Amino acid sequence: MATELCQYCGVDLDATPPRQEIGYVYGIECSACPPDRRRSLVLARPTRVAELTCPVCGARLAPADEHPDVLVVKELTYEVCDACGERCGVAAVRKLRDVSGGTM
Ligand SMILES: [Zn+2]
Ligand SMILES: [Zn+2]
Repeated sequence: MATELCQYCGVDLDATPPRQEIGYVYGIECSACPPDRRRSLVLARPTRVAELTCPVCGARLAPADEHPDVLVVKELTYEVCDACGERCGVAAVRKLRDVSGGTM
């Protein structure tokens, strides 16, 4: 049986099972950005949020779950190492929204 080790501190994750923590990622493509600076961005948030702010131009994207510039919303279940507290893996991914056509 393969032993999984924490990539950060090397603790044996079978002996010290990681905690799980939910986080959310939003994939955006902001239409308010100037075309030469527009790109796909992935914003991580600890909880679901009502609005996002474009880190490039500062435009407000709301509601975050339904704004046309928000292409993907994912709920991630992270594994958090109990020894060092780092996120050492992703246990599950649930797509809450995907209008990217599979590009993100
Ligand atoms: Zn660790
Ligand atoms: Zn923008």
